[in-house]
Amino acid sequence: MSYGGKMKNTNGLLTVKNLVKHFDISGGLLDQLAIEKGHIVRRRTTVKALNDVSLSIMPRENLGVVGESGCGKSTLARTVLGLYPPSSGEIYYQDKRVDNLTAKEMLPYRKKMQMIFQDPYASLNPRMTVKKTLEEPVFFHNKSITPQDAKDKVAEVMQQVGVDPQWAGRYPHEFSGGQRQRISIARALMVDPEFIVADEPVSALDVSIQAQILNLLMDAQEKRGLTYMLITHDLSVVEHVSTRVAVMYLGTICEMAQTKELFESPRHPYTQALLSAIPKISHQKTKHIKLKGEVPTPINLPSGCIFHGRCLYTNERCINEIPRLIRLDSGTKVACHGVEEGRL
Ligand code: SF4
Repeated sequence: MSYGGKMKNTNGLLTVKNLVKHFDISGGLLDQLAIEKGHIVRRRTTVKALNDVSLSIMPRENLGVVGESGCGKSTLARTVLGLYPPSSGEIYYQDKRVDNLTAKEMLPYRKKMQMIFQDPYASLNPRMTVKKTLEEPVFFHNKSITPQDAKDKVAEVMQQVGVDPQWAGRYPHEFSGGQRQRISIARALMVDPEFIVADEPVSALDVSIQAQILNLLMDAQEKRGLTYMLITHDLSVVEHVSTRVAVMYLGTICEMAQTKELFESPRHPYTQALLSAIPKISHQKTKHIKLKGEVPTPINLPSGCIFHGRCLYTNERCINEIPRLIRLDSGTKVACHGVEEGRL
């Protein structure tokens, strides 16, 4: 067993170290004022969305990031891509630190790192044809490309994602949900990225279409050598497509493991509870683990292990001491005193 709190340099394509993202939602001065023991005091309210997150994604890897709604996974995605500035911590693309770059310095990395959003209708401009939507990032990142080359590229990528290039003159509302998500994927692929963050890419789609879109993402990964960070609340999605999985709870990573290892031998009590809730088509009965209480608010994080109020194995140490992410002999990383003490 070894401690993974301080990350060493790895050959990761993308590495985040001790990433913190807090949002100040205090509002105006009047909203911040309160009376305490007869005195007027000023109080700030902070949502602690990400708390000391460290991870590294290897080239061509598909890292699934899972957790319930509000666990910070989408904030992680947006912070990694520079859409939110981190409150503290570091982000590296290969060996280059990118979280402190100016907008101009960040441009080449914006081309390498693309995002696919959950709702393809909301992420496509309803007033732009597919051709314009797909050409836009190409002209932005490659000022010298000719209109004919851009047009050819649109046709090539539309073909790759399974949308007839003859429909390039159509608008988003003329397509089905699945086709719109194919167009969103095409837009991300237009600039030949290396790293794609897919934030719940199939959760807005009909179940019958989800497998097609996941297959499309997997094909694109294989053909183009892409690296993915796949954000989802759906464990069955990561079980089928991810090579490794990070489980998040209240803005922290509580467990990270190879997919097979995580699904066969989950170690963190929260991961065990999440997995026990998946219906299984097998004769083997798994007991549904019912957690105590509700997810605490990210405004007032619990002391010690942030899961202690809901965990079935809490002891005194759990209430007072934050567990560090430790590496087990199996390669799994887990943040739990119970596992470290050998009682779980
Ligand atoms: Fe439960 Fe303690 Fe482990 Fe947290 S550290 S998951 S409270 S056993």
